[in-house]
Amino acid sequence: MKDQSIIIVGAGFGGLSAGIYAQMNGYNTRIFEMHNLPGGLCTSWKRKGYTIDGCIHWLVGSSPQSWMHRYWEQVGIVPGREFVYFDEYMRHEGKDGRILTLYSNVDKLEQHLLEFSPQDAEAIREFVGGVRLCMAFDMPSASAPLFHRILKGLKFALVFALKYRSLQKFLKTTTADFVLKFKDPMIREALREMWVPEFSMFFILFTFAWLHNKNAAYPIGGSLPMSQAMARRYLELGGTIDYGKRVEKIIVEGDRAVGVRLADGSEHRAERIVSAADGHTTIFSMLDGRYADAKTREPYEKWPTFPSILLVAFGVNRLFNDEPKTVFGISFPLREPVEIADSTQKRLWVHVYNHDSTLAPAGKTVVEVLLPTNYDYWKELARDQAVYGEKKDKVARIILEMLEQRFPGISGQVEMMDVATPLTFERFTGNWKGNFEGWLITPENASTIMRPMSQTLPGLSDFYMCGQWVQPGGGLPSGVMSGERLVKSLCKQDGKRFRLQK
Ligand SMILES: Cc1cc2nc3c(=O)[nH]c(=O)nc-3n(C[C@H](O)[C@H](O)[C@H](O)COP(=O)(O)OP(=O)(O)OC[C@H]3O[C@@H](n4cnc5c(N)ncnc54)[C@H](O)[C@@H]3O)c2cc1C
Repeated sequence: MKDQSIIIVGAGFGGLSAGIYAQMNGYNTRIFEMHNLPGGLCTSWKRKGYTIDGCIHWLVGSSPQSWMHRYWEQVGIVPGREFVYFDEYMRHEGKDGRILTLYSNVDKLEQHLLEFSPQDAEAIREFVGGVRLCMAFDMPSASAPLFHRILKGLKFALVFALKYRSLQKFLKTTTADFVLKFKDPMIREALREMWVPEFSMFFILFTFAWLHNKNAAYPIGGSLPMSQAMARRYLELGGTIDYGKRVEKIIVEGDRAVGVRLADGSEHRAERIVSAADGHTTIFSMLDGRYADAKTREPYEKWPTFPSILLVAFGVNRLFNDEPKTVFGISFPLREPVEIADSTQKRLWVHVYNHDSTLAPAGKTVVEVLLPTNYDYWKELARDQAVYGEKKDKVARIILEMLEQRFPGISGQVEMMDVATPLTFERFTGNWKGNFEGWLITPENASTIMRPMSQTLPGLSDFYMCGQWVQPGGGLPSGVMSGERLVKSLCKQDGKRFRLQK
């Protein structure tokens, strides 16, 4: 029998979740976190009285009817939190003045798409049919009455059995391929851009299914308060977090992980070591690649990841009451293509936080622009910090000029500008190339939905991983689910019954 001690690297959602479930099951855990805050990527920061949210747009599993909701209850995110739902996922504005609205309600979405492009009726019906299929595809909530659980469980099994082939078809089709079924270029463009073109269509359908079922909400207050609530829950269960402690190496003796060595030179030992930090750093740096066989290397060499991003935020002395409240924002066309850093943009995607007044002083609003960018471009620039800083300023100024096209007068109302590059995300969270969500789910790795990635490394005992790098699709639910999955497997190894604690 092990002595039940576990060291966890990283206090993001993956690490905190592993800690919470482990504490609930009698393990004695300690987290080493390099930052001075919990949450990892799920964070926000303050500038000149404004709060820049660096993560949450939607929390999947917000509906108490959903099976995922129990995770948020267990890890302490639900109590006292106000969730809001939006009628619109996003707006895609055309050069010709047409507006394509991706509604959350599937009936409204279908009607709007049919009016927008009657010639695409067949493709629209296939698309919306896929969304409706995914809507029925929700497992029963653990907290629902037994009768409801049985009914929902039966429905789930039936849908799965009858519709398996259709689900497989969507799973194996990329968004880029599916959109070719539409003739209208705006529909094609909007669906292509709403996530990443290589992403499996499955995920786009689930996006709308969750929205329709009111199961993907924005939590008022944003990201950091959720992370802090989760850290509190962990501490209340008896866990310990050491902030400002960077783990440099996993100590291995005889192919067994026995401890960690920190950047300050100190060494700490436990029966089991869990890394909930970046997967690439864990495997190739903390363990020097010694336990990376071909299967372990494959994702890092072949699987596409979410793109690295630029997050440019503005604090604006203006209320945007006449703008829609959306999950992901408005995409609008630019008069002329504009060069921003390493890419040329024909349109801009802007997210107006007019739904969360807690993020700005009274009468003011935070506006954020997210853009894909190349990590290597910024890495090269940062060889000269002055050049890097100037480029960041320039990017913010160019984007502000672009925003002026859509929101006349905004330049004179901006009180705060902030630019986060992939290097910023890398510096604060350690993620590989500043990545914000790990692996894409593509037709090639779609099987991981049914058969999750391994949380161990071949040949190394007492070592485990959790977080977005062992659960394709990433996001906060993946982090939490991977923590639970890990602790269930530890309980099994130790012959214990996995249990939950209120
Ligand atoms: C702009 C943006 C928007 C997003 N939107 C959403 C959304 O709407 N919904 C959603 O569900 N998800 C969203 N995500 C994704 C989500 O934030 C991540 O997938 C999730 O937070 C990953 O959690 P994690 O615990 O796996 O990793 P991380 O959050 O990266 O946690 C890893 C932790 O390990 C620590 N660490 C790393 N290296 C070391 C070391 N050597 N020693 C000690 N500690 C270390 C880090 O500091 C960090 O705290 C978004 C992310 C971003 C950036």
